[in-house]
Parts: sequence; structure tokens; C-alpha cells
Amino acid sequence: MNYSRFLTRVSQNRQPSLIRELTSLLSNASPQLVFMAGGLPNVQMFPFQAASITMRDNQTITINPKLMNDCLQYGPTPGYPPLIKQLKKLTEKLHAPPCWAESDLVVTTGSQDGLCKALEMMLNPGDYIVTQEPCYTGTLGIMNPYKPHYLAVKGDDEGMKPEALKAVLSKWQPGDVRDAQEGVPKVLYINPNACNPTGVSCTEERRREIYKIASEYNLIILEDDPYYFVQFGGMKDFSPSFLSMDTDGRVLRFDSFSKILSSGLRIGYVTGPKPLIERIVLHAQVSVLHAPAMSQVLVSELLQIWGVDGFLKHTQTVQEFYLKQRDAMLQAAHKHLEGLCEWTVPTGGMFLWLKVPKIFDTWDMILERGLKKDVMLVPGKAFMCDSSLPSQYMRAAFSMVTPTAMDKGFQSLAELIHEEIAL
Ligand code: PMP
Repeated sequence: MNYSRFLTRVSQNRQPSLIRELTSLLSNASPQLVFMAGGLPNVQMFPFQAASITMRDNQTITINPKLMNDCLQYGPTPGYPPLIKQLKKLTEKLHAPPCWAESDLVVTTGSQDGLCKALEMMLNPGDYIVTQEPCYTGTLGIMNPYKPHYLAVKGDDEGMKPEALKAVLSKWQPGDVRDAQEGVPKVLYINPNACNPTGVSCTEERRREIYKIASEYNLIILEDDPYYFVQFGGMKDFSPSFLSMDTDGRVLRFDSFSKILSSGLRIGYVTGPKPLIERIVLHAQVSVLHAPAMSQVLVSELLQIWGVDGFLKHTQTVQEFYLKQRDAMLQAAHKHLEGLCEWTVPTGGMFLWLKVPKIFDTWDMILERGLKKDVMLVPGKAFMCDSSLPSQYMRAAFSMVTPTAMDKGFQSLAELIHEEIAL
């Protein structure tokens, strides 16, 4: 594929930072190397020497002074080499990308950082962007300042509708290879598993159709998948990722450890075609330099101790917890919101997406009157490409609240909705 048509002029203008490139070479250098190049501070002057972290399963991660050096020192921009190796192995096992030899992987400061850099690499102000709607607010937050023409694609309980995708693209010809400056969409954003905010996962059949359409219209698919490991069906039922069906080299996949290891560690990773990953790395070379080294080492050590099987076993525990939480929230919804709200059963993740058919817009009800009733959700408008339009939806998170609090919260919500209808 020719990737240059997808890149903004700013991204194309990025040049490798000499010092960053030299730092990358260090991991393969001989111990005899007299390194006088980089401005590396002397770690002896840092106050930290070693650490020991106790895990919930009572195992211990020991960060000895040598490993502590890796935690405290600047590292290569694409990521901590042992972690990259582990993540590549994991990706190969889980997704077996068809274009693996032409792919690469970069560790990012959470997947949000990867999304931000990828979109910056491809978007010019006023571009057409194909996106699912409703859409994760963090992605809208990146895209909105470009004042794009959104081609919003709706879905149902099987995910994004391929016919709706075709419909928004109908004014273009398949195979149009003009530059996006000339008004051709080139990016498709999708959150395929346990979508934030709807909790819906896209079926395999639809994914294949969507991929085919993306291929026909020459779109790069941004596969934002932080809930991959929080799907309730269990791994044997996971639908194949877009990365796993990417024979063209048009998928950038965004993974995250935020929902399964820690959100505060800020570790995500982007996998995709080498020329695109390279642009993300060049951006990182001048923004964050690299994802936090301490976090990368910690994740790497954890993966080392657990192995892939232990890691996957842990993700199963996470799934089981959120599944119970989901069921508790559904129970509370049935008890208090039946007849007032509509919802689809989330197949993973942390959210229940509620529709209130008798209310024109949930915004004022939640933000102005919800607090007085001690209940807070996110109004649906926050997830819409055009937030000036009303939304009958709202998002409730079941990740943190206890079943008792869910019951109380939905009781208050029901009262709130009744009052709103009576207004
Ligand atoms: N994408 C989606 C769909 C999300 O829900 C989130 C987190 N709320 C992110 C990306 C960002 O996650 P991270 O913590 O990895 O930056």
C-alpha cells in the first residue's frame, strides 16, 4: 500500500531525532561502548535504588538495582525492548496478523496517546472521518478540533452496520485514490468490542463486511480495542480482530492495559503497518520521548512471571468480575427502569447504554437535576459527533458501584425520569 496519501504534511515532515535514534542503538551495544552521545542523567544521582511489589496473588515483583536503572533512565522511543518482544509474541498468538512481516508495534502512554498520535498523523482540518456513532468521547475530543466532516455510522446490537457504512460513503467511488485534501475519507474509527458507550460487540460477519468496504474505499481502520480482554463470552468466543483479517495492511490496532492491569500505569500499544508505526514513533520522539519506563518494566516483569497463560487467566478473572457487575446492574435496571428505559445487554466492558424514549434530551435532566438526586451518569450527547443535537441516551458505568448502590442509584434515576416526564 502507498501510505503517503494517508499522512498529513506535518507528519510527513517529521524527521528522526538523532539523539533518540542513538538511544535506541544502546540496547544492542557492547558493554565496552564508551557512550558520550546522549544527555543521559546519571542514575546514581536518583534517590531510588530497588523496589519490591507485592501482588494480590502474593507473588513478588523484585526490581533489583540493575532493573531499577531501566526504570529510571531514558529508554528507546518504541518501548522497553523486553516488553516489545513480549507484546509482539502476545499479538502474534492472539491475532496472527497476515501482514506480520510488514508490521511493527510501539508502546504508548495509554492507548489514548496512540490514538491521539495516529489521528494527528492522518487528519487535516476539515477532513472527512468515518466513525461509529455513538463514539468514545476521548476520540471525539481528539477529532473535534480538526472540525471534521463526520461520516457517522450507526449500529445496533450487532455493532456497526455495514449498509450504514456503505450509505455514508455512497457519494464517493470505491478505489478513489485522490488525497484527502480533495475531500476523500481515509480513516475509519471503530471500537469493535464492548464499545464505549454502548457495550455492544461487532459480529464477525459484520467485521468482515466492514473490512471489505474499508478495502474498497481505501480507508485505514483505527481499531480501538481496550475492552478486548473484558469480553464476557470467554476467549474461545472472541470475534477475530480487524488486525487478524488485515491482508492489505490497513489496520492500526490500539491495545491497552488500562482495564486489566492498571489505568494509572498508562501503558498501551499500537500495532500496524511499519510506515504508519514509524510516524507515531517520530511523533513520540518529540513529545513524550517514550512511555513511562517504570510502568513498562513493571508490565514486562509481570508478563515474565505470569507467562502468557497466567496473564490470560488473570484477564478471565477480570471478565468474571465485570460480568457479575453487569448482571447486578441489569437486575437493578429491570427492577427500577422497566418501562422507562430501553437497553441492550452489554457483551463486555463496563457500560450500560440506556435510552429514555419519553425524554427528548437527557442532558439537563442529568447535569442539572441528577446531582440533587445523588445520581450521576453521562448524557448521550457527549458521545455524538454533533453535540448540538438532542440525545435520549445516557451511559451508566457498572465498574465501580456496588449492587446496593446500583439499586439505590437506579431508584433515584427512575424518580428523576418520572419528574422529567412530568415537567
Ligand atoms: N478507547 C476507549 C474506547 C476507551 O474507553 C478508553 C478509556 N476510557 C481509551 C481508548 C483510552 O484508554 P487508555 O487508558 O489506554 O489511554
